[in-house]
Amino acid sequence: MNRFSYTRASEVPQAIDQHCANRAAAFIAGGTNLVDLWRENVAHPQLVIDINRLPLRQIEPTAAGGLKIGALVTNSAAAYDATISARYPLLSKAILAGASPQIRNVASVGGNLLQRTRCLYFYDAGTRCNKREPGTGCPAMEGVNRMHAILGASEHCIAVHPSDMCVALAALDATVHLSGPDGSRVLPFADFHRLPGDTPHIDTNMRDDELITAVELPKQGFAEHHAYVKVRDRASYAFALVSVALGLELAGDIIVNAHCALGGVAHKPWRNTDAEASLRGKPLNADTVRNFATDMLRDARGRRGNAFKIELTARAIERAFAMAAQRSLEEHAR
Ligand code: SF4
Repeated sequence: MNRFSYTRASEVPQAIDQHCANRAAAFIAGGTNLVDLWRENVAHPQLVIDINRLPLRQIEPTAAGGLKIGALVTNSAAAYDATISARYPLLSKAILAGASPQIRNVASVGGNLLQRTRCLYFYDAGTRCNKREPGTGCPAMEGVNRMHAILGASEHCIAVHPSDMCVALAALDATVHLSGPDGSRVLPFADFHRLPGDTPHIDTNMRDDELITAVELPKQGFAEHHAYVKVRDRASYAFALVSVALGLELAGDIIVNAHCALGGVAHKPWRNTDAEASLRGKPLNADTVRNFATDMLRDARGRRGNAFKIELTARAIERAFAMAAQRSLEEHAR
């Protein structure tokens, strides 16, 4: 039996103090991943700090023209928020592509960033796993790896990050607001999650004593030309084999700016800003997109169970550009 204590916090400093006093503590909001990890004996919190009373449920404009989303805003509330739907539809679509309505109704924005890989070996406490127990090995390398990484993996771990929302946040150049005992800081989204390297047990660059308080979106939301493509084994409630979050700025058929993040392919949402920069000034046509996909996947490495994801990702990228361009054509016709 896992014995634990439970407490509540009503202010951010109080929650951080409670966590600092017990390093085996865990914050809980929706609990949609923590409870899984706990039940499977992967997480062993001695103290659970319920943060649902913290004042982190606002969605509010920023002075820079962006939007700040409190960490306790539920996934559903974020997806259906009128401002997010209108200005950041890429984010709304990505959120609604993830999980189930029941889960989205309780899962928090902050918790979405912190969910852990769904690698089946990670959840099976009877198997070896470098992420769960560093130094024990990675059976996924030669085992069941259909859902695993083709980019940015290491010899220690080939797990992927499971979130849809995070893929859109990466494409949108969001930032993450953190609070800890030493004060507050803001991390670019690209620096929040880590690649596995030789420390696959560490998922993020957040410190153990920090709490996510908000996610901030910049002014540019790619509302006019965007697409979220998710390829999965069934139509709902399945993690992505591959996903693509794409935002385009177009001048006619010329690409002015492009942000593209891939999900389901790496330990973090995957971007290649050099490949994106190479698109600027190019016509949006099949050759441009195919060359971009080749650049994005140049370092991809498949294994026995997941090599198919390389071509699948290229086709998902092409589909995303076609969907964004289709919007463009429809708008020209109006
Ligand atoms: Fe563990 Fe990572 Fe290997 Fe999965 S891929 S078994 S999470 S080390």
